[in-house]
Order: sequence, then C-alpha cells, then structure tokens
Amino acid sequence: MAVSEIPTAPPSGFRDFPPDLCAPRAAAMETIARVYRSFGFSQIATSAVEDLAVLLGKGGGENEKLIFKLLKRGEKLDAALAAHEELSDMGLRFDLTLPLARFYSKNKGVLPHPFKAFQIGPVWRAERAQKGRYREFVQCDIDVVGSESPIAEIEVIAAIRSAFEACGLPRPPAAFVNDRSLLLGALKRAGVAPEKLSSACIALDKLDKLPEEKVYGELKALGAASAWNLFKEGTLADFAELDKNAAERLKDVIASVNDLAGAEAAVFCPSLVRGFDYYTSTVFEFRRAGAPGSLGGGGRYDRLTEKFGGQPVPACGGSIGFERLMLLLEEVPAPAAGPTFCMTVFSSELRQAALRYAAALRRKGHDVDVYPGSGKLGAQFKYADAKKARFALVIGPEELSAGKVKVKELASGQERILSLDEDPFLKSQAAF
Ligand code: AMP
Repeated sequence: MAVSEIPTAPPSGFRDFPPDLCAPRAAAMETIARVYRSFGFSQIATSAVEDLAVLLGKGGGENEKLIFKLLKRGEKLDAALAAHEELSDMGLRFDLTLPLARFYSKNKGVLPHPFKAFQIGPVWRAERAQKGRYREFVQCDIDVVGSESPIAEIEVIAAIRSAFEACGLPRPPAAFVNDRSLLLGALKRAGVAPEKLSSACIALDKLDKLPEEKVYGELKALGAASAWNLFKEGTLADFAELDKNAAERLKDVIASVNDLAGAEAAVFCPSLVRGFDYYTSTVFEFRRAGAPGSLGGGGRYDRLTEKFGGQPVPACGGSIGFERLMLLLEEVPAPAAGPTFCMTVFSSELRQAALRYAAALRRKGHDVDVYPGSGKLGAQFKYADAKKARFALVIGPEELSAGKVKVKELASGQERILSLDEDPFLKSQAAF
C-alpha cells in the first residue's frame, strides 16, 4: 500500500473521539461510577483479552460467533498452521460478565461475600456496524455475586435507573422485566419440543427487529403458536399457573423498583428473552421509545461460575450500553465545558512569569490552560475562544513590573487589571 493510501479513519465499527466528545464521555462515566459507588458497589477492572476457553462454551449465545480472535504467535502459530489446528488461542472480551465470573472464581477467597462490583470498559463484537451498533463499545456493568435475594435485582435495576437520571436523561428508560422460567414454561405448555426451546427463544428475541408476522411464523413452525397471545398480552397473573414462585418473585421485584423509582420504572414484559444463554431466571432490558435498540440489560446468572469449577454461585447483574446513552445525551444541550482560564504567554522572556502564575492558580483549584507557545496575543485569544475558556490572562512587561495581571472575559471582551495575589476567579465573578 502506498503511503498516501494508508487510511486515516479507523476501521468500520471503531471510532476516534475528539476533545468535544471525550469530555462529556468522561463526565458521564464518572457520573455512572459515582452512582454505582453510592449503592455500595466497588470498581474493578478486568483483562481485555481472555483465553478462548473462557469466552467459548457456556453462556455467550449468539455473541460467541462475534468474537475477535487473536492469532497464536511465533512457533505456536507455525505449528498450528502445519497441523491444520485452531489458529487462535485468545480473544477480545465481548461482554464484562464472563470476565467478572472468571475474576470472582479466582479471587473469591479474598473478596467480601456477597461481592458487589462494577466495571466500566470497552468490549468488542464483530457486528455489522451502524448507528448505535459498533464493534468497539463501552459497557458499564454492575453485579452482585453470591446473593439469591431479590434485593440484588432490585438494587441493580434501581442503580442503573439512577445512573441514567444522574447523567441528565430527561425521560429515563423503563426496565422491561421477565423470568426465563415463565417464558420456557409457556413454550413447553404450548408443546414446543425440548430440543427446539432455544430456537423458539431466539425467534421470540427478534420481536423488536423483525415484523410481528415473521416472528409469529417462526414460532408457529416450532409449535409455539398457542402461546402467542400470552407473550403479546399476558399479565403476571396469567403466568402464575406456570411457575407460582417465579411469578411471585418477579411481582415483588417490579413492585419494589416502582416503589423506589416511580410507577412504570419496571414493567412486566412476557416476550423478553435476552441473547445470552447464561441467564437462569430474571432478565431485564432498559428501553425508551424512539431510542435505537436497548439502552441496557441484564439478569440473574446463577450458574455461570460453574464453568470455572467449584460450586455455582448465585449472581445478578446489569449493564448500561454507554454508546446508546451518549447518543441520547447528545440531544440534551450541555453547558460549554472549557477551562476557566487560558494563560497567554506574552513573550519568551515572560514565559516563566506566566507559568508561575498558572501554577499558583492551579494550586488554588482552578483549571488553567497555558498557551503552548508565545507571540501575537490575537492568535492566543483565538485559541482561548476555541478551547471555550471563560477568561484569558495576560502578564505583559507593564503588568509584571506592577505586580498585576490583565483578566479578559472572552464572551463580553471586558478587561480588568488585578493584583497577582488576588484570586482572579473570585474577583472576576464580582466584576464581570
Ligand atoms: P448485552 O451485553 O448484549 O446484553 O448488551 C447490553 C447493552 O450494550 C445493550 O443494551 C446495548 O445498549 C449495548 N450494546 C450491545 N451491543 C452493542 C453494540 N454493538 N454497539 C453499541 N452498544 C451495544
């Protein structure tokens, strides 16, 4: 490839983030972390790359087909090529739940019990990219490992909802909730053969992507036609005869979330499946009318740690789809967030005075952007405007000899001369 043909855009489904997008992303991540911490969850970070044995086999469902695999390296690759064996041994994580289950299984002896953890980080899926669907995207997971109590479901759903609210979403999405045993019970009662149950779940899971008639057709072919009305309009009372305990438990979770977060914060959705195989009972998904796909999802996965040996440990967790949240937040007008001050550098002789003054302001807790150069003040003011600074500061020869600084409010163009030992922010608040 000639040098000029080397692309400057990232590959499809991967993105760069300029400063204007990075700043609100960092702020939203910090807000989500703060809310999760306020519910008593501790932050952990897990490896981006996992052994294929961790990623494959139990739980990933359709997502296993979307793994970005890493080639074996060096002699191992040569040997695999020669023997026509599997060429990869590791892959990029496609969610944060499998890495959490691995992490918990390794460290459970030293972790609090139950363990309440959150993770914010990128995951990778080799999907067909489109708006709101990327190949690299951030998830914000929150999990309770080691508790069978419905408090786990209630707190996870409530924490995710609070995080949406704290990020400034005017209408937080509702949590649509279901229990897989109700779903499977209805399919079995309709006469779906055991070996066709997972195909029926996959068909039902397409309800928000395909026309209803198509999904109905697929379910009918699998023997589930008589359950159609129940999935479309059934209430929890209708499902109680299939599994009284599951229906009662779900009713309790929904009532508790609605009591804490407001009516309709959680709603029973009998057709909700969710893609992962590792969910064992409760499943939930956050959706809002007009938003592309779901904004988050989760559920109870009581058997996932079995994969790593030892006793199964009950667990429940959920995930915010951070990219979809950011798409919605783009519609909310955000206040311009630049540094409070831009310190100009009048000349190379006065550089140290400028740097020293900037350092003193930072010690007082202010944000100060020093212009990385010197020269024409007009160009430096332009830079300060582009950086959305509120004030530009100038220490020229006259100011320095008088122990002063010139403070210019960029929006109004007004200027004030202050003493170097005065706090320009407090002074300028009163003056401008
Ligand atoms: P999942 O891990 O599939 O349960 O997804 C949890 C959340 O991640 C979803 O509700 C989406 O908001 C988000 N999500 C899933 N896949 C993608 C993707 N390819 N691009 C962006 N966000 C995604």
